[in-house]
Amino acid sequence: MGRAAREISHLNVDELIQMLNEALSEEWLAYYQYWIGARLMEGPMRSEIEPELLLHATEELGHAVLVVDRILQLGGTPVLTPEDWTKFAKCAYESPTDPYVEAILEQNLRGERCAIERYQQIAEFTYGKDHTTYQMATTILSDELEHEHDIEDFIVDINRLKDDIRKIRM
Ligand code: FE
Ligand code: FE
Ligand code: MG
Repeated sequence: MGRAAREISHLNVDELIQMLNEALSEEWLAYYQYWIGARLMEGPMRSEIEPELLLHATEELGHAVLVVDRILQLGGTPVLTPEDWTKFAKCAYESPTDPYVEAILEQNLRGERCAIERYQQIAEFTYGKDHTTYQMATTILSDELEHEHDIEDFIVDINRLKDDIRKIRM
């Protein structure tokens, strides 16, 4: 951590680094969950949903880059082994054992809601005390809110499709 960086920090840096490592682990798990889920996925609107899930995967990886860069700036050591991802992450990794599109979307939705809580927590912890981390947290938070919204929209569309099919059958 640079001298000025240390002088201007008004919070418990070790605690912050721990939170950031948890977030980093969650991003990697979210990346893989999206990435593998998109490939296994089957069901309606597959051709539309799959590329969006892969885009989200890439965006989660982008978040990991932002988080790891900040950990290093703060003088911390980022998670060094994948074994620690599941130990550090507070957001559960959900194996896509059911490849049906709705099941995959529900899993990703729970992940996004957990990510939203995570960056809300980091933003609150750093607000007015560490402007750089705060800015990073709110930038990522905006993406996670967008991800949640995208998935909610897909679920709404699938439900409408199911309703329409039901009406035709009656
Ligand atoms: Fe993310
Ligand atoms: Fe996300
Ligand atoms: Mg999106």
